[in-house]
Amino acid sequence: MSDLSAFSLAGKRILVTGANTGIGQGIALSIARAGGAVVGVGRSAMDDTAQKVAAVGGDFEAAYCDLADSGEARAMFNRVWDEVGPIDGLVNNAGIIRRANAVDLTQADWNDVMDVNLNTVFFLSQAFARRVFADPGRRGKIVNIASVLSFQGGIRVASYTASKHGALGITRLLACEWAPKGINVNGIAPGYIETNNTEALRVDSERSAAILARTPAGRWGRPDDIGDAAVFLLAPASNYMHGAVVPVDGGWLAR
Ligand code: NAP
Repeated sequence: MSDLSAFSLAGKRILVTGANTGIGQGIALSIARAGGAVVGVGRSAMDDTAQKVAAVGGDFEAAYCDLADSGEARAMFNRVWDEVGPIDGLVNNAGIIRRANAVDLTQADWNDVMDVNLNTVFFLSQAFARRVFADPGRRGKIVNIASVLSFQGGIRVASYTASKHGALGITRLLACEWAPKGINVNGIAPGYIETNNTEALRVDSERSAAILARTPAGRWGRPDDIGDAAVFLLAPASNYMHGAVVPVDGGWLAR
């Protein structure tokens, strides 16, 4: 007889940003398969994710907002909490990337990436913590989607690398402040995953071959590779984990 309850999200409601596509959609589906209810947040229609979640018997609600505006994101979060119900876990997944040589990167390409990838990650986490702490005895889990570029420099992605190093740092800081107060803050550092984010790399046959040759697993990652790791960080099985940013990268960082 097996007991997988430590890995179950039954009875939990998890808010996932950027759930309409890519890694966010993979996370939403993994949560649904683990028995959790999903609130998908973003600016684009989420019908595809809603249908896929329904197909595995899950519960899905969509909430729309522009995550470049951290004030709008906070207001959305509080509205969801009041109107849909309390949130048990927050997955800060939405993110953007801008590619340019560092000497050419514009102020807009710097600010736009920082707004979505770092500013909103912090202020959504703060909004979540305020609601959790206002309800004595309530606990919570935060999972930040970082990157292998939280640990490496990369090339031609200056604002992205800065934002993802920031995401690593803020994951650790929030873990230190909130572990004693009942919130686990952890992260995942995906390697190279098949999504819109990496389309430019995948259509460039030279870059694509170089990436695959350097990846011990020898394949691109899939959104559900990240989704299943997120389930672990949202479930009771990881209750003693605080401030870890776990690579899920086919071995890229081990090399
Ligand atoms: P993606 O397919 O481009 O998805 C990004 C998601 O973020 C989309 O849902 C997108 O919505 C949403 N988003 C971006 N800006 C937004 C805004 N202003 N308001 C609302 N939603 C917004 O990329 P992905 O690969 O799944 O990326 C997900 C996360 O994983 C990101 O944080 C990324 O940095 C990280 N990551 C990805 C890889 C990889 O290899 N793919 C590797 C390491 C880390 P729209 O569809 O409306 O734009």
